[in-house]
Amino acid sequence: MEFVNRNSTNSIRSTLKSNKSESILMKTDTKETQVRVIYTGGTIGMMRNKRNVLAPIPNALVKQICKYPNMHDQEYAEKRFGMSTATTPLVLPHADGELRRVIYHITEYDPLLDSSNMTMLDWARIAKDIYQSYETFDGFVVLHGTDTLSYTASALSFMLENLGKTVIITGSQIPIFETRTDGTDNFISALIIAGNYVLPEVCVFFGNKLFRGNRTVKISSNALDAFESPNSPPLGRIGVSVAIDYRLIFRPCSVSRFTVHSELDENVGILRIFPSISRSTFQAFLSPPLKGVVLQSFGSGNIPSNRQDILDAIKTAVDRGVIIINCTQCANGSVAEIYDTGKILFDLGVLSGFDMTPEAALTKLSYVLGKAEWSLEEKKQMMQSNLRGELTSPTDPSIEEFHLVEAVAKSLQIFSARDLEQLEATLFPAMLANAVITSDIPNFSFKLNNLKSYGADLSGTNQDHRTALHLACHNGNAEIVNYLLLNGVSVHIRDRYDRTPLHEAITTDNHEIIQLLINCGAHLTGSSRGIGEKLCAAAARGSMKRLKSYQLAGADLTQPDPSGRTALHLAALHGHEDIVRFLLPFHENLEETDLLGLTPLDYATRAKHFTIVNLMNDFISIT
Ligand code: ASP
Repeated sequence: MEFVNRNSTNSIRSTLKSNKSESILMKTDTKETQVRVIYTGGTIGMMRNKRNVLAPIPNALVKQICKYPNMHDQEYAEKRFGMSTATTPLVLPHADGELRRVIYHITEYDPLLDSSNMTMLDWARIAKDIYQSYETFDGFVVLHGTDTLSYTASALSFMLENLGKTVIITGSQIPIFETRTDGTDNFISALIIAGNYVLPEVCVFFGNKLFRGNRTVKISSNALDAFESPNSPPLGRIGVSVAIDYRLIFRPCSVSRFTVHSELDENVGILRIFPSISRSTFQAFLSPPLKGVVLQSFGSGNIPSNRQDILDAIKTAVDRGVIIINCTQCANGSVAEIYDTGKILFDLGVLSGFDMTPEAALTKLSYVLGKAEWSLEEKKQMMQSNLRGELTSPTDPSIEEFHLVEAVAKSLQIFSARDLEQLEATLFPAMLANAVITSDIPNFSFKLNNLKSYGADLSGTNQDHRTALHLACHNGNAEIVNYLLLNGVSVHIRDRYDRTPLHEAITTDNHEIIQLLINCGAHLTGSSRGIGEKLCAAAARGSMKRLKSYQLAGADLTQPDPSGRTALHLAALHGHEDIVRFLLPFHENLEETDLLGLTPLDYATRAKHFTIVNLMNDFISIT
């Protein structure tokens, strides 16, 4: 399957990163955020065909979007990127209340699919596309048909391991080409959230609600509120403004980088039991090559306990190593061992799926079975663990009844919900910052746990959009940084001045912290020429430490500044021999010229730094 690159990753990179193409970018004080949109198909981009049925139309979505001034700001796009070309991204007009304007790049798949035609290979393709452009974008939106959207959302939630950025899947019930479409609202809201909110989850946005993807089910084939997450509240709602409940966000709590596991095992199935199900149907279903099955049982996890034939078939399958997960047929609730008819399953070695949706249980099985490095016991253990917030674990920490913010609000005589929210948004980041500044590790963990139990979002930001991690990185306490990372604090949040925690660690040249952040998936952000400027400034000052900080953070040390000068040009000009020695091996040759046509050797020669001239001539003779 080929995909049409309206904006292939290469051209995206060249628009965003390449020093050569940035000259067309206008100087702007407007804050921007970059979102990649992966358009897989679905009703949102369908039209009626000759047979009068809905089918996806290639290359039509972008043209339609450009007609909506609330979806694309043509004037801004032209000023920002020059006259419109095939590689120009789309621009969402500024949304009130949001810091950043969303620039979005659409990758349209070919063929576009009705989601009923999608397979596990399509999930793998989406996952790989996100992986391959992960560092270039702040967030991702996947446009998808609604029919199997919950399966895709659930599968991606497992496949995208240690996800640190927002991924939102959405679609519509009415095509975007029709007057009453719900597609524009769903799409615009998804773009705003993906671009402006760092939520490290695969989410579904539909009908003004943001859900955890692996908790969703499609509940209606015609209502605009087509999705629900029966056993878990929405993560957010869009009304006049965006309201995210940060306490509900599931955060990866390990210091590991984002990666994709795309090996899924297709030998899985869902068996919905019904009265008088025949032995042959049951047995046929459980036969090889099946390796994992979601058994949808009655009520709170019951099957007919008087059907020895069924019980025998289950026992044989479990003994063969098949993983059987018990999930309820009910739309709400979970399985539990409260009836004899349910207990019997557990005694046979069937695992509890607790309150997982069948979509989540099935895709989790296929993910877990695809982990060749895990033993059968480990796989079973994983199936019962809460990997991505897909099941309510009995060990989930409960939030204190006594709400700290409410107590403060009372004493300040604050009563409206809005003022209360504001107070909470101010108090928690301030208290976290205080803990970062004043504590040693035992004290810090005590304070952090207390704040968590009062419902504080540890990735919460202050008025300058700075997190406790920004502060800890600036202060240079690696233990506290590590502790925050282990508690899921995001490394990707940019403050009002677009600085990430990684910038703070670079500014203070704390190599231990830079390494920690990189291990956790942090990466350099901002324009590559901006980084070139910083490298040149460091070289001019003779700051080897700063250059090494950038090297550790993954910078290309040959990156030129807007005048085409590299750090090597500046080190040569200022006569810093040690820095020239350090930088030379990063250059393939010394032919890079700045805007005046001068090479690093020209700089050294004109500045009469003859040892450096000799060094460079030696380098040229061996390259
Ligand atoms: N059949 C369509 C699909 O899943 C339905 C939709 O998008 O709403 O692709």
